[in-house]
Amino acid sequence: VLFLGYRTMKGKQKLGLSALDVMEAANTHGAVDLDHLQLLELIGRGRYGTVFRGSLNERCIAVKLFSSAHRHNFCNERSIHGLPLLQHPHLAGFLGAEERAAADGRPEFLILMEFYPQGCLSGFLSHHTVDWSTCCRMTHGVTRGLAFLHTELYKGDQYKPAVAHRDVTSRNVLVRSDLSCVLADFGLSMRLTGSRPCHHGDEDTVAISEVGTVRYMAPEVLGGALNLRDCESALKQVDVYALGLLYWESFRRCSHLFPGDPVPEYQLAFQEELGNHPSFEEMQILVGKEKFRPKFPEAWKDNSLALRSLKETMEDCWDQDAEARLTAQCAEERLCDLTLLTTHSLVHNQRNRSQVRWPSPVGAASTDIE
Ligand code: ADP
Ligand code: MG
Ligand code: MG
Repeated sequence: VLFLGYRTMKGKQKLGLSALDVMEAANTHGAVDLDHLQLLELIGRGRYGTVFRGSLNERCIAVKLFSSAHRHNFCNERSIHGLPLLQHPHLAGFLGAEERAAADGRPEFLILMEFYPQGCLSGFLSHHTVDWSTCCRMTHGVTRGLAFLHTELYKGDQYKPAVAHRDVTSRNVLVRSDLSCVLADFGLSMRLTGSRPCHHGDEDTVAISEVGTVRYMAPEVLGGALNLRDCESALKQVDVYALGLLYWESFRRCSHLFPGDPVPEYQLAFQEELGNHPSFEEMQILVGKEKFRPKFPEAWKDNSLALRSLKETMEDCWDQDAEARLTAQCAEERLCDLTLLTTHSLVHNQRNRSQVRWPSPVGAASTDIE
């Protein structure tokens, strides 16, 4: 039986109440007693796993179930969740990992997680619009989670390597009841530092460069031009590209940015251009060759301070030149600044032409803002 995530008392305290509840449900050997686990309702189906709302000794949790064919993804997700110091308010809460025999006798694999009642960000935004401060808080939270994931950390004798997520999408962000957000689904994530950082000429080169969700793939991934010589930076830059698209999807549903107009229906990035199932080749042409990016709505032509700042932030995340993109840490600062702008400054101050001065990413071309 596998049980990870409770390496030290310190770590345990950081996991918060629901994690401790599950600890109580665990037997003296530290394993979760699956006899007390009930799967109640199917809540999500991804590429590799099926996710259920469940209950463990009457406590609500989420369970991601992998068939034996996807054992590899399970092991990877478990190993990432089990990294020291990974607990963070904006990363999905991990409660344990288990292996058991399915009804047909074959092994199946379970990841036990905190349950996020509002589901994924994409689902939430398709049913709800959000005001400015909520939208900033949601996107800022995801960004904080990603910045933390990307950070190498030493604390006492514990070491957290820098990790690339490699599948940043609005479906892999989950929403709490208070609408704060966490980054989830570490099935494709990869350690970038420490024991096994990636190498140029690695046998896993293809695996390193071509994963993720096609819609959110950065131009250098689509073009097979990922810079494997500096794999650590390159994979972080790929994550930030997708983060820019996630901002666009989110702020298109922000009611304050469409004063007097109906808020447009939710759309995934490039949905208007390529529909629901874009192919790798279509994405290669649109994003890689034509350098196309999601269009800003007409209502965003207004050059209020907030809109200019917001558009600039998205463009600095999805820059064609990977090295010119913001780091997740820098994006976090930008989002923090946006959060501080009052809704009053969002619109109708076209005459205010004072420029926001942000630190430019190294090597970035300066952006002209009208
Ligand atoms: P996959 O690796 O198969 O994509 P995910 O971990 O992304 O699996 O989960 C698939 C979907 O299930 C998510 O997009 C989300 O809608 C839902 N989901 C996953 N985990 C949770 C959770 N802890 N709470 C609520 N919903 C979840
Ligand atoms: Mg997923
Ligand atoms: Mg996944």
